[in-house]
Amino acid sequence: MPRRETPRPELRCPTCQAEVERFWPYCANCGRRFQWRDAQRETGTECRYCRWMVSDSHSFCPWCGREIRDADSSPEPLKAPKGFLFHKRCKRCRGGLMYPMQWCPWCGRSQAFTWGYYQFQNICPHCDRGVDDWMDTCPWCGKDATGRDLLPRALRRVHRLLVVSRLKAWHYRVLLRPGVSGVSPDGPKVIEIDRRYVRGKRRSDEVSWSMLTGLILHELGHSFLYHHWSWTRSGRFRRAFGEVRKAYRVADEHWVDFERRRVATTLVDYVSAYASTHPQEDFAETFRFYVTRRGRLRELFGEFGRKRKGVVVFEKFLVLHDFVRSLRGWR
Ligand SMILES: [Zn+2]
Ligand SMILES: [Zn+2]
Ligand SMILES: [Zn+2]
Ligand SMILES: [Zn+2]
Repeated sequence: MPRRETPRPELRCPTCQAEVERFWPYCANCGRRFQWRDAQRETGTECRYCRWMVSDSHSFCPWCGREIRDADSSPEPLKAPKGFLFHKRCKRCRGGLMYPMQWCPWCGRSQAFTWGYYQFQNICPHCDRGVDDWMDTCPWCGKDATGRDLLPRALRRVHRLLVVSRLKAWHYRVLLRPGVSGVSPDGPKVIEIDRRYVRGKRRSDEVSWSMLTGLILHELGHSFLYHHWSWTRSGRFRRAFGEVRKAYRVADEHWVDFERRRVATTLVDYVSAYASTHPQEDFAETFRFYVTRRGRLRELFGEFGRKRKGVVVFEKFLVLHDFVRSLRGWR
């Protein structure tokens, strides 16, 4: 069992006043770099390379990983020298480790990925260590914790399309995360994009920007709907899209569809095959087509006519169009 930590005064970033945790290399809010020196004279020793607090008995700096062995270093791994707590043992040397040591102070083995970071909501798209969804900077590697820096082209295009479609931004937050893409009803402004579409397995993997743009717009459709959930109770909405509260599980394997700008010909009452899987997907796909085509209904309706789409498809776009227009002045 980890020893109980004595409560410390709340730590705040000197630059932006955001709450920080001890031994975070960076402020998660403003990105300021921290140096955790031995200001309280707990051990009387600092690493000669990074200046962070270390123990006399350490052989390696637990923060920068460099060898700091000298005559005072313990020949045997210890459990918790003065100034440090014991949270677990190093798998190699069995020496004691304190969260969040990135290196074993006894044998020098990397510990960055042994902590699990379960108290965090997610993991950093750059370094795979823990981050929360509100964080702009990863407190561990100092890079963009949202991963937005990895998809600027797609985000710029999405933003432009929303503007020309006359949709006001609703402070959505696009985050690059492992696993699936999606929006949760509990956090409708958080749009998670599966990072495997950006970070390919091989360097040669090409990112398809039109696919990413389509994927983000589709997820924004879900976000938009959750944001205006009461609208889904209106008779007109329900006649067009059906009951969105219907329970469902959709596999994430239809993403290839999102690259298509052309309306599918196969299904008479839907814009794409994926739209037919659930009323919520139907709305998200309608939203994606609406925004991708810049809200130009005449052009879209011409295509629907040529492809013999059902009347209900026209109505879905009209419902959305009228609602978007009714939102002028909406905050
Ligand atoms: Zn800060
Ligand atoms: Zn160091
Ligand atoms: Zn070790
Ligand atoms: Zn990181």
